[in-house]
Amino acid sequence: MADARGSLHVPSVIARKRDGLTLSDADIRELIGRYGRGELPDEQMSALAMAVYFKGLDDRETATWTEAMLRSGEVMDVRHLGRPVVDKHSTGGVGDKVSLVLAPIAAACGLTVPMVSGRGLGHTGGTIDKLEAIPGFSADLGAPDFERILGDVGCAIIGATKAIAPADKRLYALRDVTGTVASIPLIVASIMSKKLAEGLDALVLDVKVGRAAFMPTLIAARELARRMIAVGQAMGVRTSAILTRMEEPLGHMVGNACEIEESLACLEGQGPFELVELCIEQAAMMLALGHRIDLEEARADARQALDSGRAREIFERMIVAQGGRLQDLPKPRGETILRAPCDGWVAAIDGLRIAQTLVKMGAGRQVASDPIDPRVGVRIEAMRGDNVCPSAPLATVFHGERDPQPEHLAALAAAFTLAETAPAQAPLILERLG
Ligand code: URA
Repeated sequence: MADARGSLHVPSVIARKRDGLTLSDADIRELIGRYGRGELPDEQMSALAMAVYFKGLDDRETATWTEAMLRSGEVMDVRHLGRPVVDKHSTGGVGDKVSLVLAPIAAACGLTVPMVSGRGLGHTGGTIDKLEAIPGFSADLGAPDFERILGDVGCAIIGATKAIAPADKRLYALRDVTGTVASIPLIVASIMSKKLAEGLDALVLDVKVGRAAFMPTLIAARELARRMIAVGQAMGVRTSAILTRMEEPLGHMVGNACEIEESLACLEGQGPFELVELCIEQAAMMLALGHRIDLEEARADARQALDSGRAREIFERMIVAQGGRLQDLPKPRGETILRAPCDGWVAAIDGLRIAQTLVKMGAGRQVASDPIDPRVGVRIEAMRGDNVCPSAPLATVFHGERDPQPEHLAALAAAFTLAETAPAQAPLILERLG
């Protein structure tokens, strides 16, 4: 929408969206481009974000918005390494260490995995925080080092840099203070602009569903997944998704150093069954898309990479290449065991409550500048569906620099619901899309 001098008339574009009309590709590109360069004031972008919050964006507008945010920064290109470039994104959960296990499996099976991950904020943990529990590990690599490690090892995991989708960085901060985070098209554009900046051939999405997830309902999660797939495909990236349950934590460990330990256990064939199966499944989805093979063959390849120890070896090489000393992983300063008050079946474990309590104990951040204590964590001893007798261990709490407060221990214990009957089985994988 141009004014008399032929330049974009921003109030008219905002009004168009406010009135529920669609925006042209040219207008979206111009607005996001300007915003990324600091040439559009926050008040106009806030008004537009609010209009989008209420009126939405269709698939075409969302794809254009995503591409404009992606183009506001650098786009990697590691295809010259000669292997399909594939990544996975999870919308965030509690105890979700799948990336740490799956990246080396995928690399062992011939993919390049240039993983750019986030730090945790709020109750969901961040892959980078977990890796930074390893002394010496650097998630802050320049492009030449990142590329060298991808060439030598096949996978590397770094934090988001300022050069990746800067328009999203500004817009996300603005959405955070204007009540416009919870807009599906804006979430889609935000996530996909950062992931597609990795220069991918294919992408697997794990959309978590449940109380401990960003998307509490299956309907919302399905819509988010469908729209992310549409954007990926519109941009020529083969994309598929699974929806997975996120009520209780994934695996036994929640924290940072302890989740590295559990990832190593998975890579050494000692991981909890459900967690290992999810890692295999998502790695197989990456292989199926990357190598264009069927899922059964991909599953067999992923399992072979895990069982043979090749994935374990690649994980170690990646950590060493990024400066980490696994042998120095910090240990808790003490432990407290939480015990069952009576006998019964573990009917539910409230992952959200566990995660929120661990954040208060120092395992996560309430604001972006909070330091993390990597030793703080929990090992779940009694999983959902287990039968326990009185005073059987429910969980072991790992102490960090400070001992846990009684109210923290009480909150962690209250996360376990015991019942007289066994809970119904609840599958981890709820649906597949794409
Ligand atoms: N994660 C993101 O990166 N962006 C969003 O908008 C929401 C979650």
